[in-house]
Amino acid sequence: MGIENIIILGSGCAGLTAALYAARAALAPLVLEGSLPGGLLTTTSTVENFPGFPEGIDGYELTARMREQAKKFGARFETDTILSVDFFGDTKKLTAGSGITYESKVVIVATGATPKLLGVKGEKEFYTKGVHTCATCDGAFYKGKEIMVIGGGDSACEEAHFLTHFGAHVTMVHRRDSLRASKVMAERVLHHPKISIIWDTGVEEILGDTKVTSVRLKNLKTGAISEKKVDGFFLAIGHSPQTKFLGGSLALDEMGYIKIVAPSIVRTPVDGVYAAGDCADSVYRQAITAAGMGCMAAIEAERWINT
Ligand code: NAP
Repeated sequence: MGIENIIILGSGCAGLTAALYAARAALAPLVLEGSLPGGLLTTTSTVENFPGFPEGIDGYELTARMREQAKKFGARFETDTILSVDFFGDTKKLTAGSGITYESKVVIVATGATPKLLGVKGEKEFYTKGVHTCATCDGAFYKGKEIMVIGGGDSACEEAHFLTHFGAHVTMVHRRDSLRASKVMAERVLHHPKISIIWDTGVEEILGDTKVTSVRLKNLKTGAISEKKVDGFFLAIGHSPQTKFLGGSLALDEMGYIKIVAPSIVRTPVDGVYAAGDCADSVYRQAITAAGMGCMAAIEAERWINT
């Protein structure tokens, strides 16, 4: 196999936008799509916050269109999952599950992050049918409804607070008797008239018919089981960036996100290796910010190749 100009790992909003820009710079990028072509956005229902679609757009369709646009300008796509990388030589080497070792001048890592799940019964069955992992994406479907948020960190508080714009009431369920969230975030939910918190409690099962109708809870101190009616069930127990395959080749922060060299937003400490989207962003985690980072990574990559 020849040496590629740019290999993009991941085909979510970040990877596909990087592919579009790199293709338009006549670099014929190769996108390795991994196990979830289109990325996390394909698992949400309607995307209502991506600019340019006032009527909303299906997440799968949005990424399919991005892919088509990148392909039109010369991006190439392969389905392969990279298991290990070697960024130390003149060219970057990527070993895939297919047994192929790819070589490239530049690598853009856009492998995303996966929301953590509880692993309880009903969670997978009702995913997007009442079970969600992104309030910004799916909160508006629950106007006037009963909403439950799981977790006690900053994300859970942020999501719960955001969901009060829609829900009749938001119940937070946390496995301990105090919040892990920062004081500012905690204060926002502790005294909010539309938010109540059930402490020391875990989720036993998510129940429903065609969509979620209730949740079975267990008090972890007393063992008491209860059931609560809910329409929307939002998990906010953290995300795991998909960066394990990088081994020690790129510096990661304590949560596993790729470290970026400031003042750049996408440059890693390794020349010719860039990171974009949720694998490098623990703060914003939006389709539009991931797309922006993909664009920046491709522009930086093009300049690096041509200097
Ligand atoms: P996090 O801080 O790791 O909190 C995760 C929460 O989920 C914790 O309360 C944890 O419980 C709970 N949890 C984890 N696994 C669980 C399980 N299996 N069952 C039940 N509960 C479980 O994650 P995060 O809230 O997503 O925040 C991640 C990072 O992003 C943090 O550094 C945070 O400060 C930052 N962040 C900042 C902002 C902001 O400043 N605007 C917003 C969002 C996130 P325990 O408390 O018992 O461990």
